Amino acid sequence: MTATHLTIGILEGDDIGHEIVPAAVEVIRAAAEQTGLAIDWRPMPIGRRALDQHGSTLPEGTLETLSTFDGFILGPIGHQAYPKGAGAINPHPIMRKHFNLFANVRPTKSFPGLGALRDDIDLVIVRENNEGFQPDRNVVAGSGEFRPTEDTTISVRVITRQGSSRVARAAFEIARQRRKKLTLVHKNTVFKLGCGMFVEECYKVAKEFPDVAVDEVIVDTMAMRLVRDPQTFDTVVTTNMFGDILTDEAAGLVGGLGMAPGLCIGEGALAMAQATHGSAPDIAGKGIANPFAMIESARMMIEWLGHNRSIAQAVEAAALAERAIATALAEPSTRTGDIRGTGNTADMTRGIVDAIRSDASARAA
Ligand code: ATP
Repeated sequence: MTATHLTIGILEGDDIGHEIVPAAVEVIRAAAEQTGLAIDWRPMPIGRRALDQHGSTLPEGTLETLSTFDGFILGPIGHQAYPKGAGAINPHPIMRKHFNLFANVRPTKSFPGLGALRDDIDLVIVRENNEGFQPDRNVVAGSGEFRPTEDTTISVRVITRQGSSRVARAAFEIARQRRKKLTLVHKNTVFKLGCGMFVEECYKVAKEFPDVAVDEVIVDTMAMRLVRDPQTFDTVVTTNMFGDILTDEAAGLVGGLGMAPGLCIGEGALAMAQATHGSAPDIAGKGIANPFAMIESARMMIEWLGHNRSIAQAVEAAALAERAIATALAEPSTRTGDIRGTGNTADMTRGIVDAIRSDASARAA
């Protein structure tokens, strides 16, 4: 039977998470109300507050409860500032692994007047999420980084056929919905085996997508081309660390980290909305954080779940929110200072919610 409602977890995270996650919920709630999408919101403790209240940044039972949901919003985690101790772990690599969220979908889009390098940037980087160079997620036990002597450190990079193949398939599917062009980013000139395997698997999957044009760019050239001609890219797929770096670079093209949303997906069970940026402790509590990345991450999740679960009201709510975000971003008073606005987090959120309501009533009239 087709689901008619969604159950979504709210995990605020740390620092600006307490400001931008509620903003994202407010926007999605407003859009859902207009399209008749029922959402059962479930707040759950995570991060520093969970550590203080429950003795762990990822309290026992969290993963089990989340697995019964359709998705969740995960605010930024300020793990670098956690006091050292057994309960102070960084939860999100564990979540990505536990729920097999192997594809991190990170779009970069320019909006006029925000200080973007160009006005015609519209690309999405699909980053492998669960292996590669990240030592906290590329092994099942221990760490992918170790120090055999005082003066030597070894960091392991894990590339598997399965990991490469499934992220490639996710990227081809996204490319097919967009401008049907996929760029493979790698460095198989040096990592002949690791990147070599990644590229091989991408080309195997390409056979299932004859309608998508494929090209390849070496990662260092990509870093340059992203700045010089970002408008020529549509969908990009790459390994974990390259994707991590390139997505921050891409954010810089369109106004900074506040403009960098992300969605973590796997084979369909559950989605996690997680912005690219960190918890920004330097601006936390001031009410000035740009909520775009978090709002857009949540919006992407609703859209993805709408398609994945065949819930038309969710797809409609996501489209309504998308138009409203563009409307609010067009006005300096309803955008934050980091993107040449005169407003704060609350002004931007209110601007988007107001635009949702007026769009919906104009359509109803
Ligand atoms: P992490 O290692 O946890 O990803 P980071 O070192 O990348 O964190 P961030 O917390 O992302 O650091 O912050 C980097 C800079 O970007 C800071 O100056 C911060 O204030 C700014 N920043 C990040 N997110 C936002 C946002 N949503 N709105 C405005 N500024 C932001």
